[in-house]
This record gives sequence, structure tokens and C-alpha cells, in this order.
Amino acid sequence: MPEIKNSAAVAIIGGGVIGLAIARALALRGVRDVLIVERSNLGAEASSAAAGMLAPQAEADSADDFFRLCCQSRDLYPGFAQSLLEESGIDIELETSGTLYLAFTEEDEGELEKRYEWQTKAGLEVEKLSGDMAKLLEPSISNGVRAALRFPLDTQVENRRLISALATANEALGVKVLTGVSVDSLSIKRNRVTGIETSRGFVACEKVVIAGGAWTSQVINEPLPNPRIEPVRGQMVSFEATPQIARHVIYSPRGYIVPRRQGRLLAGSTTEYAGFDKRVTAAGVQSIVASALEITPAIAALPLTSTWAGLRPRAADGLPVLGPCAEIAGVFYATGHYRNGILLTPVTAELLARAIVDEEVSPPLQIFSPDRFQLVSVR
Ligand SMILES: Cc1cc2nc3c(=O)[nH]c(=O)nc-3n(C[C@H](O)[C@H](O)[C@H](O)COP(=O)(O)OP(=O)(O)OC[C@H]3O[C@@H](n4cnc5c(N)ncnc54)[C@H](O)[C@@H]3O)c2cc1C
Repeated sequence: MPEIKNSAAVAIIGGGVIGLAIARALALRGVRDVLIVERSNLGAEASSAAAGMLAPQAEADSADDFFRLCCQSRDLYPGFAQSLLEESGIDIELETSGTLYLAFTEEDEGELEKRYEWQTKAGLEVEKLSGDMAKLLEPSISNGVRAALRFPLDTQVENRRLISALATANEALGVKVLTGVSVDSLSIKRNRVTGIETSRGFVACEKVVIAGGAWTSQVINEPLPNPRIEPVRGQMVSFEATPQIARHVIYSPRGYIVPRRQGRLLAGSTTEYAGFDKRVTAAGVQSIVASALEITPAIAALPLTSTWAGLRPRAADGLPVLGPCAEIAGVFYATGHYRNGILLTPVTAELLARAIVDEEVSPPLQIFSPDRFQLVSVR
């Protein structure tokens, strides 16, 4: 085995979208010697498994701090996509066709009505449609549709191209990457991080970003706060749809379909506590296909081309864990993005880079601080 580089200015644990985007943001701010340590390949886990929806309004029940963070990140996407195109030559296929949310039952209609009410009161862009109007927009949706909401600003991105774009941009910016190397623990002396212990030896560094997705809690050692990140399995199914059968991302309360370019149509997903097991199950595929068929019977004739599963990183309170750790100097968290890590990538990278380079702890980093878990464990 060749020797690995044994020091870095900032070491990032995990090369998913979050680690990759933070590395890029640091390099763009002039930080030299940024190192990503990835146990597998870049983007191999949740980041490539995701559906790529950027849909805070379709998913939220109230305008809380988390919702505001999600909207802030969604609104950063056009500039982020353009910069990535210039830096990498890769188009991340940010769509602007919007998201539809369909109601098929009386209960679904009640849900939609509540969402419409709070969002219009909050001044957000949302349109209420009758079933017929929804079908005019998307003729393939089922005749059973009773009503719909359209969120013109909620959209989607091709997350696998996002990984490639970030990796290419990082290469051009001089970010170093170690793949196939796992981080075992952080080395902490006198309340300060001094480096990371890896499967290929010690790497000295004064700053470490923990971006290990669903595996984050495995590298966290005492006395670091432990957000108790759990893996939450999501299964996905992909169909071949040429010509494409929809333009919008389309949700129902039970599932969603995501039309991609080149005739891919994704359908998801499940929410399962199955440990680190990433296998696809018959029951998972059955429930995804049933929800997709409810949205559009046109699914029935499409060839099913692939299935996969990924592990969403969920913290004990379901919220992201972002920013510096107060007790241990040099340790930064960027994890717990759960169902919204693709959406939250640009804002996470910005906030973390500002905290690492300028020592700025902005309001979102106070709200989503890792220290909230320190307090829980002390009590
Ligand atoms: C089925 C599914 C659908 C989803 N759909 C959406 C969606 O539509 N929109 C959205 O915004 N989000 C979605 N998500 C959530 C999103 O995928 C995640 O929140 C996001 O990818 C998390 O990114 P990450 O970089 O933190 O984690 P990951 O992509 O999992 O990356 C973490 C990386 O860290 C590495 N690692 C872990 N431990 C170590 C270690 N000790 N040493 C070295 N490397 C280590 C892992 O190998 C991995 O590559 C979905 C997720 C799933 C599973």
C-alpha cells in the first residue's frame, strides 16, 4: 500500500454530496490542502440513491426554522448549478417545471387544504387545482385524482450528475481525495482535534468535518456530542419512459414519481428502520409500484429497469446537525440531513465554509448545532 498523505488543513470524513460540497466551498474560499477521506467511492451511498427532489413546500407542515433553511437552499440552486457547470462542464439538470401534489381520497384533500392554507398565509407560491385542471397539466395522471396543489418553485436535480460535477470541480480546485480509506476515530488532545485515525494511518489536521451520512455515529468518540444518527432505508424503482410520461415531479401522500431526461422515470420510496441493510425487498418494490400506479396507470406498461436502496442519515430529533462543536476546537458537523440532503447541499456548504474559514456561527448553525446533543447526554 502506498503511503497516504499524513497531514491536511481540513480533513472531511465522507465523500457524499455534503462532504464534496463543503470541500468545494472551502477551496473556493482559498483553503489549500483540503482532504476528503471516503471509505467507498465518492457519492456511493445515500447521495446516489436519492430521488433528487428539491421540494420543501411539498413536504412541510409548517413554516419553522427547518423549512426556512430548506427554502434558502432551494433558492441557492440556480446559482449553484450555473457555477458547477462553469467549473466542471457538467449540467446537473436542475429542472424548473415544478411539483404537483395529488389528492385521491377525502383525507388527502384535507391534507392538501391545510397545506394550501398555511402556505398562502405565509405568502408562499402555491396553486390550488381541481382534478380536471391537474389532468390538463399532466394528462397521464389517474382519473381518480380529486384535487392537486402545484408548487412552481419546488423542483428537482439529477443527483448523480451533482456528485460528478462536485467531484470534477474539486479536482480542478486541488481538493485531495482518498477513496477506499475509512476513518476510525478523531484524535483529541486538550479539547482540540489533532487529526484522524484512518485504516491507512494517522492524518494530522487542525480542522475536521464529520460528514459520514448514516455512519456518522460510528466515528464519533467521547467527548464529542453524539447526535445518534440512525440509517433509515429508502428503496427506489426506475422505469424506462420514452416518451416521458410526465413533466412535473408528482407526489401523492403515499409516494412520488420523478421524470428524468433520457427517459428515466424514478419512483419512491420506503421509510424503513432496517439497520445498515441496503437490500431491496419484494414488499418495498410492491408498495412503491402501487403508489406510482395510483399516481399514473401509465406506469403499468413501462419496463422496470432497476431497483436500489440507500440509507438516509437521521439524527435523534430528525433535524440536521450543522456547525462547530463548542467543547472541542476544530470539529465541525455536517450530517443528519435525513430526507433532504440533496436539497440542503448548497446551504450546508455555505454555512460550514463560513464557520470554518471566518469562524462565523450564523443563526442556522446555532439552531442546528451539534451541542444540542451534548446537553441531552449531560442531563
Ligand atoms: C431513497 C432515497 C431518496 C432520497 N430522496 C431525496 C430527495 O429527493 N431529495 C433530497 O434532498 N434528499 C433525498 N434523500 C436524502 C439524501 O440522499 C441524503 O440526505 C444525502 O445524500 C446525505 O448526504 P451525505 O453526504 O450526508 O451522506 P452519504 O451520501 O451517505 O455520504 C456519506 C459518505 O460518508 C462515507 N463514510 C461514512 N463513514 C465513513 C468513515 N468512517 N470513513 C470514511 N468515509 C465514511 C460513506 O461511505 C458515504 O459515502 C434521499 C435518500 C434516499 C435513501
